Order: sequence, then C-alpha cells, then structure tokens
Amino acid sequence: MDQKQLIEEIIKLKKERDAIILAHNYQVPEVQDIADIVGDSLALSKHAADTNHKVIVFCGVHFMAESAKILSPDKTVLLPAKDAGCPMAEMVTADRLREMKAQYPEAAVVCYVNSSAEVKAEADICCTSSNAVKVVESIKNKQIIFAPDQNLGSYIAKKVKDKEFILWKGFCITHKRVKEDEVKKIKELYPDAKILAHPECEPEIQALADFLGSTSEIIKEAREIPEKDIIIGTEEGVLHILKKENPDKKFYLLSPGLICQNMKKTRLEDVYLSLLHMQHEITLDENVRLKALKSLERMLEVR
Ligand code: SF4
Repeated sequence: MDQKQLIEEIIKLKKERDAIILAHNYQVPEVQDIADIVGDSLALSKHAADTNHKVIVFCGVHFMAESAKILSPDKTVLLPAKDAGCPMAEMVTADRLREMKAQYPEAAVVCYVNSSAEVKAEADICCTSSNAVKVVESIKNKQIIFAPDQNLGSYIAKKVKDKEFILWKGFCITHKRVKEDEVKKIKELYPDAKILAHPECEPEIQALADFLGSTSEIIKEAREIPEKDIIIGTEEGVLHILKKENPDKKFYLLSPGLICQNMKKTRLEDVYLSLLHMQHEITLDENVRLKALKSLERMLEVR
C-alpha cells in the first residue's frame, strides 16, 4: 500500500472501530498528520480522560498509552509500536521508590508522568512538564521526593524555593545529548535567535536558554515572540507543528542528538495494523490502576 492508500484505510478503520488517534508532538510528521489530537503529555491525558470513543490509538511511548488506560479503563487502548518505551521511565521502579519513601516518611512523592503505572501507584500526585511547578506548589508537605527526572526536578526546585527536594537520578537520554559547545556554536551562527528549551535538558543547557518550557509552552512561545530565527531545544518532532504554524519563521534544532528513537518507532503502517488487528492492547492490574488513577486525578485537579 502506498501512503495515500494507508491513510484512506486508517480513516476507514477508525470509523468502523469508533477510534480516536492521539499523537505526541515528538511523533513523525505523517503520524501527527493522521491524528485527531496532537499534543504533549498533559493535553493528551486530558483528551484520553474525556473522549467518548471506544478505542484510543496512542501514538507515543508505553507510559503514555498506560496513562490513557488508567484514565479510561472502559476503553480499548492500543499502542501501535509495541516496543516503544521510554528509557527515563524505566529508571525508576516501584520497589526502589518504596525504599526511598521509607527513608523520607515525611515527604510527598511527585511523579513525572514519564513513569510506569506501578510507580504512579506509589506516588501522591503526578505532574507533566507543563504543570510541574503548580503541582508542587499545591502540596503542603515541606519535603518532596521528585522522580524520575532529575533535571526537571532541579528546574522546579529553582522555582519553588520553600520546599526541600529529594531528586531521583533519572534523565531523558535524548535531552541529555545536548552539549554546551553545541549551544555556543549555534548561538554564534544565529546571534539574533532565541533559544527555547525543555527542562529535561541538563542544568548548564537550561542556563544558556532564553526560555524553558514543556513542548506546548515552547510552541506557544514560538508563536508569540517577534524573533524570526528560533533555536529549539527539545525533540525534533515538534519542528513539524512549529513550521506549519509559523511559515514566516526559521527553526533550528539545538543539537542533532535531539531525536528520540522510541518516539520514531510508530509508522503509519503500525497505526493501520493496530486498528486492523486491534493490537497492541494495554492491560493493567486493577489495584495498580486504581492507585495510579488517584495520582493522575489529583494532577488533573490542579489549576
Ligand atoms: S524524549 Fe526522553 S523522556 Fe521522552 S520518550 Fe524519549 S527518552 Fe523518554
């Protein structure tokens, strides 16, 4: 099948199955274009919670599809690329988190959504990079265990000064690839450009950026600033929407390393096969799901 036929088949199957396709901003352009909703983790979680469709096809990585299942247990949630995982999410386990909780009994556990359902079940509340500061501010405890992203945790710690943070030592292998000398070189090449970066980058890269935010905040900032040259410090998939929305601006990737192999695993063929064979369905232990649901619902209540 060529691409046009694949797209036609996906649209046909989507209707037959009563499905909605959600795609993360880091997906390949053709997958973003076939999706009903494209967004970051927070936006997609909200859509997963609100949708009336029977089937959710989640074009992203495993923890995202799991979050959709936690929020919508009566829906069939499919992950088209079975082995699309998130190395950061795998850096924390429920057992190790329980050990840390025992060490800091007074602390509240804030868990980045980039984590498994079992880990979310151990947390008091979840957060995304869009709402992390507000989530932490909403907590009464003085001590906060933040897992698994150390860089996002240290970014929040700088903003919320009246808390004591115990940071898990996890990281995003994609954002960690950005090197200081790459930032300096690209700044020399485009001296008038603004650098918009994700807080999953290392602190020394964060310090060199003009703006820090989640993918949706970066997209909004790029739309609003007057600069015509913009350097993007997050996964390259976001360039697709940035270029579409801002045809008069030029975008440059901060580092060629900003490509997440796991996010690129989902192809149109996978979306088609997922709908055709109803594969690969996400299932969860109900006890774990209910506990993880509390953490996600508390997050969604934070305004
Ligand atoms: S970009 Fe980083 S955090 Fe996101 S899925 Fe890839 S490895 Fe995980």
